[in-house]
Amino acid sequence: MALLKCVDCEQPISDRASKCPHCGAPKRAQHRKRSARSLALERLGFALIALGAVLMVAGAGSEGNVARVGGLFLLAGFIPFLIGRSLD
Ligand SMILES: [Zn+2]
Repeated sequence: MALLKCVDCEQPISDRASKCPHCGAPKRAQHRKRSARSLALERLGFALIALGAVLMVAGAGSEGNVARVGGLFLLAGFIPFLIGRSLD
């Protein structure tokens, strides 16, 4: 039997216990490794959101489609961002 540390109260818990006997927090993996694919998707989405926000600010108040394209980038960026976050 090995002892793990509770992620909430940092008291030792048995690796066979399903929750912490001290604070009742359900046992979670302490450092869950994220898959490279979900991280890549999340970063791609974040980059699109950031680029879209920059374009919206840069194009605000001027004629043309810069702000509109920025808005589309921003919205489109949420899709891979959210998929990447929900993968694991
Ligand atoms: Zn605890």
